[in-house]
Amino acid sequence: MTGGDAGPADQVVVALDVGGTGMKCALVRPDGVAVSTERHPTHAARGPAAVVDTILDVADGLAAKARADGLTPIAVGIAVPGVVDEARGVAVWSANVGFRDVPLRDLAVARLGLPTALGHDVRVGGLAEARLGAGRGTGQVLFVAIGTGIAAAHVVDGSAATGAHGAAGEIGHILVRPDGPRCGCGRPGCLEAVSSAAAIGRRYAELAGAAATAAEVAERAAAGEPLAGQVWQEAVEALADGLATGQALFDVATIVLGGGLAQAGDRLLIPLRAALHERMTFHREPRLVAAALGDEAGCLGAALLALDAVSVRDHDAVRVGDHLEER
Ligand SMILES: [Zn+2]
Repeated sequence: MTGGDAGPADQVVVALDVGGTGMKCALVRPDGVAVSTERHPTHAARGPAAVVDTILDVADGLAAKARADGLTPIAVGIAVPGVVDEARGVAVWSANVGFRDVPLRDLAVARLGLPTALGHDVRVGGLAEARLGAGRGTGQVLFVAIGTGIAAAHVVDGSAATGAHGAAGEIGHILVRPDGPRCGCGRPGCLEAVSSAAAIGRRYAELAGAAATAAEVAERAAAGEPLAGQVWQEAVEALADGLATGQALFDVATIVLGGGLAQAGDRLLIPLRAALHERMTFHREPRLVAAALGDEAGCLGAALLALDAVSVRDHDAVRVGDHLEER
């Protein structure tokens, strides 16, 4: 399954991308097309148990909607932030949503009676961009989401590495400026503390004495405001350091930039390509592009993960069947 195999025309996956403020939800066909989308507030302040109830209610409602529309829900895919143990289907830890060792996959199976896959929001977003979006057609992709924080997914042949503890891709915590600002993780100088959208806004406020979003800093830099230009270039240089480390580790063909900061488009991509180029010695320079799927990537990726799980299961069933026949 590469996202291009069309299943029977009436099959859909119930897909949810759960964030700290909202959930993006969809019914997704096996060819990766969302046929129906919904958004719901997460209300994370209510605590993890209430959030889990909402997730299951919303998923159940989408499955019912599918059936009412003459569609057949075949699986459920759920993406959550934080540390996610995909193999066990457990949301291990999430600051945004308050999860701590929540067996979300088994809870969904019990409630909906459908095979369910649980994934990490950025890793499944990377999966979707690699298979359906800006990284399509290239086997090795590093997807980097830059927003409040910075996280990445390394996708090889259509599957995103999870790491041994469900925490692969924390590129935001690469050390880039040892004397730099303190990161949310407690250490000074992490990439996220210099180049995230939040960090750019903080740095500008610190120097200019006036608040501005990262998008505004990009705009002012382009308009020739020296202070904004300085802040933007600092962020770009640090990001290039982080991406150069990523390229040294993974040697990808394409780096896809997503998240809010990528919406700066060429204002980010052009100086970042130049800064990355300067840092390449013997490494092959990756193609550097903006994400194509926008904020639907997490939802589509959750669906792809669920489809992969179902197709592996079916494949195993066939193998077991063949084996029985031989006997
Ligand atoms: Zn950090």
